[in-house]
Formats: sequence, structure tokens, C-alpha cells
Amino acid sequence: MRYLRLEDTQNPVTRSGRQRSSGDGAPTKLSLDKKLNFCSFITIRPVGKRVLPSVRERQQRISYQKRLTELDWHFDNIKTILECSNATPMRCRVGARYACSYCLDQFADPASLRRHTTKTHAGDSPDFFKLRSLSKHVVYLDITDLMCTICNVNIDGLQHLTDHLKSTHDALIHKQIKNQIVPYKYNNGKLLCTMCPTDLEQFADIQDHMREHFKNYVCDFCNSGFVIRSKLLEHKKTVHLV
Ligand SMILES: [Zn+2]
Ligand SMILES: [Zn+2]
Ligand SMILES: [Zn+2]
Ligand SMILES: [Zn+2]
Repeated sequence: MRYLRLEDTQNPVTRSGRQRSSGDGAPTKLSLDKKLNFCSFITIRPVGKRVLPSVRERQQRISYQKRLTELDWHFDNIKTILECSNATPMRCRVGARYACSYCLDQFADPASLRRHTTKTHAGDSPDFFKLRSLSKHVVYLDITDLMCTICNVNIDGLQHLTDHLKSTHDALIHKQIKNQIVPYKYNNGKLLCTMCPTDLEQFADIQDHMREHFKNYVCDFCNSGFVIRSKLLEHKKTVHLV
């Protein structure tokens, strides 16, 4: 097996094995930019097959763009919350353990995870920022003893925090999107829902309870609510086979 290296482009060969040539018969030199990154790749459309997008395709594209924008807003909100408060994210619960959003290490309880996150990851970006995987992951946020770190004021609840950050500090918070951040508190060894007195530890998947509070996406077959869109799609596929 032989791999094409950058030097090989001095003598480029097309897929059919023939040398590319310009009008005068001399081989055309191809040069690869060594700073090439994934964004540099372009989509090549087959020549002569340019079809105007149908209405359906256009609608799909618009709805995709809309989701991208919502996701971008979602990113902004989380970024602001993490930068301006002591709230700490949790990636997910793995069995009875809690995974760090930054390095994915697992901890026995949310308090240990919180200590680890504060000590080890100040100024880091959570992994879902790097992977831009927010569309697939619910962001769990530990808001125990929540406070605004700009003015050191104690704040009761995520909603109050975002209101405060926007109105008092003119922080970048988008109010027009569905809230996909699930807050929880850890008090006296209990993992508590912030919207009702439920102990979340009894649920294998915290989302099974949170769906009651976050009906962001509703199944049109059985009316079940979901925090994020990908969970609704997964549900429809497995339960309703669509
Ligand atoms: Zn970590
Ligand atoms: Zn403040
Ligand atoms: Zn609840
Ligand atoms: Zn359903």
C-alpha cells in the first residue's frame, strides 16, 4: 500500500491514471496547502447535473439552518453561564457514577465531581464545546449554592441567574430558545430536582424524570415530552418504528 504524499503532487495523476494536462499539453501542477484543514474541503458537484432544489429540499435546509442557529444560541447561553457563575456541568451519569464534562473522569458523587471540576478545569472548555455535540447531549448543571461570580450575589435557580446576567451585566443570553439545560442540586447526600422535591438518584436516566418538566419536543404519537430533539427522534424510532 502506498500513500500519496505532498511531494507526489509534483507529478499529479488523475483517478483514471492519466496525467492531468493544461491546454499546451504540459502537466498542470497541483499544489496542496499544507495548512489544509477540514474546513478547506469542498463539495464537488457533478458537472451538468445542477438541479434546482425542490421546495422540500429548501424547507429541509431552512429547518436545518434554524436548528443550527438555536444550537449556536444554546452554546452562547452555556458559555455565559459557565463563565459568570459557579454552576458546574456534569456530562452524564454512568451507573452510580458522575462523569466530568471536561475530561470524562468519573466520580462517586456530584460533590466530588464539583470539587474536581472547580480545581482542575478552571478556564477549560467542556468536551461538548469541542465536539459541538450539544444536539445529542443534555447539559446537566449542578447549581448547588448558585451565585453570580461577577458580583458575588447568591441566586436562587437557573432562570434567575440568566435573568440576572442579562439584566444586570448585559451578558450574552438568548431568551428566545427552548431551555435544554437541566439543573440539579446536591444537598445532604441527595441529588435533587430543582423544580420539585424528587430525588433524582432513583432514576437510572435523569431524563426520565426531567421529561416531566421539559417538554421541549413532544411526540405526536403518544404525547411524551423530551428535553432534546435527538431523544425525541430516538424515541419515535424505537417505540413507534418511524
Ligand atoms: Zn475532569
Ligand atoms: Zn451579578
Ligand atoms: Zn422534578
Ligand atoms: Zn411517542
